[in-house]
Amino acid sequence: MFCSNCRAQFEGKFCSSCGTAAATTGQSPTGADPLVFVQTRSAAPTSATAQTSGLAIAALVLSFLLPLIGIILGFVARSDISKSNGTKSGEQMATIAIIVGFVMMFLQGLIAIFWAALWFETFMYEY
Ligand SMILES: [Zn+2]
Repeated sequence: MFCSNCRAQFEGKFCSSCGTAAATTGQSPTGADPLVFVQTRSAAPTSATAQTSGLAIAALVLSFLLPLIGIILGFVARSDISKSNGTKSGEQMATIAIIVGFVMMFLQGLIAIFWAALWFETFMYEY
């Protein structure tokens, strides 16, 4: 197919050299809207420069050591990030901190039950 605008040969619906839509029979090529071919970049300039929330980092670290505090900090960080209107990032990190916090709390609970059971068993056999 040949472009009606620049006469270049191309395949498909749009000219590869100027972007003009392929002229179909009975339709004027002037009807093609050039704005359609302008690539609309997502307007999120702050995301590249956004600072990772210190609260999110603290939450992630504490979620391993002190899960309950990590979970609380994770939720605080999430609300802090959403209120920052794009100036702070790390929402994913805060979410991970909350998940890790719950997992660690669960594991620590299991360990506590294990030790309690072991202690109880020892106690029962000794007496
Ligand atoms: Zn063309």
